[in-house]
Amino acid sequence: MKREFAVIGLGRFGGSICRELSSEGMEVLAIDTEEDKVNEFKNIASHAVIADATDEKVLKELGIRNIDHVIVAIGDNIQASILTTLMLKELGIKKITVKAQNDYHEKVLNKIGADQVVHPERDMGKRIAHSIISNNILDHLELSDEHSIVEVKAGARMSGKTLIDLDIRAQYGCNVVAIKPINKKEINVSPMATEVINKGDILIVIGADKDISRFEKQLV
Ligand code: ADP
Repeated sequence: MKREFAVIGLGRFGGSICRELSSEGMEVLAIDTEEDKVNEFKNIASHAVIADATDEKVLKELGIRNIDHVIVAIGDNIQASILTTLMLKELGIKKITVKAQNDYHEKVLNKIGADQVVHPERDMGKRIAHSIISNNILDHLELSDEHSIVEVKAGARMSGKTLIDLDIRAQYGCNVVAIKPINKKEINVSPMATEVINKGDILIVIGADKDISRFEKQLV
């Protein structure tokens, strides 16, 4: 089933969302004030139009009210991003995702009712920092201020042991939710407690940050 999306702002972030949605077969209305940007997406999105999204009349004329999900990816112009979000909200758009430039911007967007606020540079920076600090943390996804999901590479200390032997849940308060074995393509979701871990396997672990940190220091 095709779903309708609009992407406002076709910079690196909005452009990437637009390409991905389109390649997944979604109907996408791509909007930008710059002609060059719009031309770039003429053959990618279902429709690409030059328009200023802060102009309510223009948004109405584009039929934005009939669109299920609008992504506001206006970059540095924070004022335009806030104004556009506010108008989309007033027009009754069901789902609005907005890219925030900084924490202050994020706060305002949450206040005015954006359904999802994303902060790609900050979040990607955090994820990369975690993988830089520890060679064994491959990826880090923040679930809340205190909880995360991490991908860790099993070291020699775990090798040849089962999840029961390691007693990770009782000893560290974390859960191994999936294992990507080093020598197989498939990922093993909800692994059995008797699963043997080999050096180089990738474990996907969920838990409180302090528990994950202890687990990583002592076991990985
Ligand atoms: P990124 O960091 O994702 O590359 P940019 O700041 O480069 O973001 O891109 C933001 C895009 O949003 C630009 O292409 C710009 O022309 C577009 N844009 C800015 N203001 C508006 C507006 N009022 N309406 C529509 N598009 C806008």
